[in-house]
Amino acid sequence: MNNLSHNNSVPRGKVIAIDGPAGSGKSTTAKIVAERLGFTYLDTGAMYRALTYYALENKINPADEKKLAEIAEQLPLEFRRNDGGDFIYINGQDISSEIRTPEVTKNVSEVSAHLLVRQAMVAKQKEFAKDGSIVAEGRDTTTVVFPDADLKIYMDASVKERARRRLLDLSNMGIESNLSEQEQDINRRDEYDSGRQHSPLTKAEDAVVIDTTNLTIEEQVDRIVELFQASR
Ligand code: C5P
Repeated sequence: MNNLSHNNSVPRGKVIAIDGPAGSGKSTTAKIVAERLGFTYLDTGAMYRALTYYALENKINPADEKKLAEIAEQLPLEFRRNDGGDFIYINGQDISSEIRTPEVTKNVSEVSAHLLVRQAMVAKQKEFAKDGSIVAEGRDTTTVVFPDADLKIYMDASVKERARRRLLDLSNMGIESNLSEQEQDINRRDEYDSGRQHSPLTKAEDAVVIDTTNLTIEEQVDRIVELFQASR
């Protein structure tokens, strides 16, 4: 048994857990599914990104596991939702854009690979499900954080399509890049996230696979909502 998944006794509401590689469409889909069902959206990647952002800002080495874990435990992370979307704050500061920069993206896989960092984050993530129902997405939400989720989804898409989506996201944020740079970045992160020792990205045995290469967001959302309703 993985020493990250020891405590599943925290009482909780309904949980839909969605995992998959970068650019598979998890975030957009999970947000809309949460809205439709009236659940809270939990972006676990944003938590690792926030820690990475904080570490870079404070000149903490991404290899310093102990220090990063201490910070992860104490970091006052807060999610807020309003008409404009979902936002993440630390110490009352909105860092929603800052956590999406190429610099954070480049370092987040190393930061999130540390066991002590993951233990601190997983404990926080389990807490989110205590007060109500959630749609959680990330790399280990179906396998480690919520292995007893009510519905588990593994989303995937071709590398080319995922790179195209990332490029579009970055361009919407005013960040210039190109397709081959994004393909390289996605391949590098896939390798790192799937090959790491602790909680690598894998498909849970009982997860439903959705290949989103040729699906619209609407189709992905409908599929998950239907699966959830059928599972009750
Ligand atoms: O989902 P997103 O691409 O924003 O996640 C950023 C990074 O955070 C991933 O590449 C991965 O290294 C890490 N992550 C993780 N476990 C999760 C969610 C994200 O290790 N549950």
